[in-house]
Amino acid sequence: MLEIDNQYLWHPYTQHKTAATPIAITHGEGALLWDENGKQYIDAIASWWVNPFGHSNIYIADAIYKQLTTLEHVLFGGFTHQPATTLAQRLMALLPSNQKKLFFSDNGSTAVEIAIKASLQYFYNQGVKRTKIIAFENGFHGDTFAAMAASGISFFTEAFRGSLIEVARIPVPTKGNEQASLDALKQLVTTGEYAAFIFEPLVQGAAGMVMYEPEALDTLITICNDNQVFTIADEVMTGFGKTGKTFACDYLTTQPDMMCLSKALTGGTIPMAITTFTQQIFDGFYDDDVNKALFHGHTFTANPTGCAAALASLELLNTSEMQTNIVRVNSRHLAFKSAIEKHPRVKTVRVLGVILALEITREGNEDYYGNFRNKLYDFFIGKGIIIRPVGNIVYILPPYIISDEHLTAIYENVTEAVETIY
Ligand SMILES: *Cc1c(COP(=O)(O)O)cnc(C)c1O
Repeated sequence: MLEIDNQYLWHPYTQHKTAATPIAITHGEGALLWDENGKQYIDAIASWWVNPFGHSNIYIADAIYKQLTTLEHVLFGGFTHQPATTLAQRLMALLPSNQKKLFFSDNGSTAVEIAIKASLQYFYNQGVKRTKIIAFENGFHGDTFAAMAASGISFFTEAFRGSLIEVARIPVPTKGNEQASLDALKQLVTTGEYAAFIFEPLVQGAAGMVMYEPEALDTLITICNDNQVFTIADEVMTGFGKTGKTFACDYLTTQPDMMCLSKALTGGTIPMAITTFTQQIFDGFYDDDVNKALFHGHTFTANPTGCAAALASLELLNTSEMQTNIVRVNSRHLAFKSAIEKHPRVKTVRVLGVILALEITREGNEDYYGNFRNKLYDFFIGKGIIIRPVGNIVYILPPYIISDEHLTAIYENVTEAVETIY
């Protein structure tokens, strides 16, 4: 396997000259994965945040199989189907009440791409020149061009700087930075040049699970509302229970104009994404003039099999068993936080829902994919735990069904890393 991989395959975010050989995984069950040598791994990051209900989940697999043998796919241009309409109804009951229209695509980046394109074209259709976007510093919204433009992690996007739409960045309203964030936003929205403000609500995932309070975000959304700037909540990471509520936006008193969903949407089984819209935005495209339509689509738009997987996932999410799991993981995280946050090498620990992030004290700034990070990564892999630290930040975002025993193993090894990795 590794020989063929080395011969033909190009991996994501990987410098192949210096990267270690990948680990060949043969199967998974629950929170566990096994490699070709039979070594067991605890998936402490739910395979890049996609898998809440465990690997090889039978309930979702059955739903996928039934759908595959009924209607595996049909084009969505000019056609519709039950999995899409039922999923729409179920999602509408869970989304903020102002969300009225769903647009399907394939991944988080395309969900963001569609929200940004819709924002720009909404104003274009009205003959209003609003061509720029506002985003947070160090945000991550994906790797396609508009999503990349909105993303603020510079080394991801440096090579393409000249080809990106214009994006202004404001500080994240973390504790103590609320006013600076608000002031920066106020200055931008009054120019009349900005179509939308995109943000990861409450938790910036790729930045290292950076967290801020709902009240701060409510203030920013209100300023946008008052100045006709659309708000886009990128819930690709936070959606479907990660923060302890179905959506991070459920902590808000305001509502965003658009939401981007993917990752856990199908329980980590089939690539699928949805961008959701208010009626006002949809109406900005509704016209006798065909040119005012949103000319965006993907071949596999609203793939019925993906919809069936999403429906089964939503059913699992809404069981009392799964809700209990989310509360259990959260209280275990909080107990671990109390136990370790006073450690002299621990700079800070933050918890929201099933997400825990711990910053290890270091001199100077840590590179995203730097030496210290690599030492931590290798330490955890050696212990049979999949954790991908961001610089000096170690975060945990396990499948909700992870056992108490496996959680304990993760905490013990994080503690050991804090004490022994320099
Ligand atoms: C992962 C992520 C994306 C990109 O999703 P892909 O499926 O990798 O394209 C966008 N936004 C956020 C907040 C993400 O965490």
